[in-house]
Amino acid sequence: MTNSIKTRTITRFAPSPTGYLHLGGARTALFNWIFAKKFNGKFLLRIEDTDKSRLNKDALSAIFDGLKWLGINWDDDVIYQSNRNKEYRAVVEKLLKEGKAYRCYSTKEEIDIYKNKLLKLGKTTKFVSPWREKSAEYKKNEFYVVRLKVPETGRIIIKDCVQGDVTWNCKDLDDLILLRSDGSATYNLAAVVDDNYFNITDVIRGDDHLTNTARQKLIYCALNWKLPKFSHIPLIHGFDGKKMSKRHGAVSVNSYIEEGIKSSALVRYLCQLGLDTGNDDLRHINNIIKDFEIKKIVKSPARFDSIKLNDICGKIIRKTEDKELLEDLIYFLDYNKIPALTIKQQMNVKDSLPFLKIRSKNFQELYEQAKFIIISDVSKISDEYKNLLTDYNIELIKSLSKQLKNIKWIKENINNTIKSFALKNNKEFKDMAKLIRIAIVGTSNSPGIYDMMIVLGKSEVIRRFTSLGI
Ligand code: GLU
Repeated sequence: MTNSIKTRTITRFAPSPTGYLHLGGARTALFNWIFAKKFNGKFLLRIEDTDKSRLNKDALSAIFDGLKWLGINWDDDVIYQSNRNKEYRAVVEKLLKEGKAYRCYSTKEEIDIYKNKLLKLGKTTKFVSPWREKSAEYKKNEFYVVRLKVPETGRIIIKDCVQGDVTWNCKDLDDLILLRSDGSATYNLAAVVDDNYFNITDVIRGDDHLTNTARQKLIYCALNWKLPKFSHIPLIHGFDGKKMSKRHGAVSVNSYIEEGIKSSALVRYLCQLGLDTGNDDLRHINNIIKDFEIKKIVKSPARFDSIKLNDICGKIIRKTEDKELLEDLIYFLDYNKIPALTIKQQMNVKDSLPFLKIRSKNFQELYEQAKFIIISDVSKISDEYKNLLTDYNIELIKSLSKQLKNIKWIKENINNTIKSFALKNNKEFKDMAKLIRIAIVGTSNSPGIYDMMIVLGKSEVIRRFTSLGI
C-alpha cells in the first residue's frame, strides 16, 4: 500500500505527564511509531500538560527516557500543550461567536445539588446547564467554564478501525467543558485542536478513550473539521485477566529498565501483546513494521506475562553481539546506580559473555553471573555454604592451590589437576568442584569452574584460594 502525497501519514503519542510511562502507554507509542514508519510518515510527541495541578516533572523525564530507551524516536520538536493555549482560546472564541458554545456560570455546588436531585428521582445524572440558552448574559467578573452545546437529539457514530462502529445517543452526553474556569483548555478540546492543527491522520490510542472520541467528534463537527481515522486498542491486563496494576508486578517501563530487561525484548513482547502476528520472538523490528496492520490488532484485552517477557529477553540476549551486551550491562549498572566496572572488569566480562549469556534471561541475572569477576574477595559466602568452610576444607583448597601454581593455565591441565587431587584426597569430584566454586565466588550459582578460572587467571584464583578463611 502506498500513500498519496497529499495525505502523508502522521501519528502522535500524547501522554499526560502525570505518571510514569506505563506498559499500555509504551505500546500505544510503539504502535503509532510503527504505523508512521510503515507508511514513511511522521510520528509526533505531544505532551498533554494543560492541567498544571497534575504536572509531574519526574514523570516527564521518565517518559522521554522510556521512549528513547525503547528506540521510539519522534519527529520534529516535542509539542507542549501548555504553550498553545492561545490557539485553543481562539477556537473557543469562534465557537462562542457562532453560538455553538456558551459560558456556564454554574458552580460545582449547584451542579452537585442538581445531580443529586436527579439521582433521587432515579433519573440519569446528566447535567443540563441553565446557561445553555442564556449565553447573552455575559457576567464580566465571575468565574465560568465554556461548554459545547451538544445536540439534544441524534446519534454519534465512531467508525473505529479496531472496534467497528460504536454509537452514542447525544441525549446521553453532557455539554462538555472546553475551557476550565482558570482559562485552560480541557483534554478533549486541546486534543482536537492539536490533532487538526498538526494534520494527524491516524489516532491510535487505548480503548479507555472511546467515550472521549465521541465527545471529540462533537467538537470536530461543530468546527467542520475533517476527522482523523481512529483505532482504539484494548488495554493490557495482568496475567489473571484483571486490569493491570502494581499487584501484577512492574507496570512502568522504567521498572523494566531497572530489572535489566533488554529494550528490544520489551518492544518485541509489546508487539506480540494484542497483535495477531504469530509468536516469532526474534523477529526484527523492520519485519514487525513491514507486517503491521491495524486489522491485526486483537479486540480483546491482552494479558501481560512477565515470564514470557523474560523468556524472550533470554533468547535475544543469547543472540546479541558481545559488544552490544557489554554496553547494555554498563547502562543497566548506571541506571541502578551500581558501581561502574573497571576497564579490567569490562574486559573480563566481555571474555565471559559467551558463557554468561546462555545463563541469563536479563541483565540482573547476567550481573549476578558476572559477580565472580566483580567481587574482590569471597568474604561474603552465602549462608547456605558457610558450613562447607570447615578448617579441613580450607586446608584442602590451599593445598590444591599449591598444585595449580605450577601448571600451564589451560582448561585441560586445570581439569586434570583437580581430578587427580580429588582422587588423592578421597573426595568426589563434584564435591571438590562445589568447594572450588565457593572459594572463587561464594555461591554455587555461578558459571562453570573452568570458565571462571580461565577468565580470572592463575594468580587471581590462587589469591582467592589462599586468602580463604582469613
Ligand atoms: N493524554 C491522553 C492519555 O495520556 C492521550 C489520549 C490521546 O491519545 O488522545 O491517555
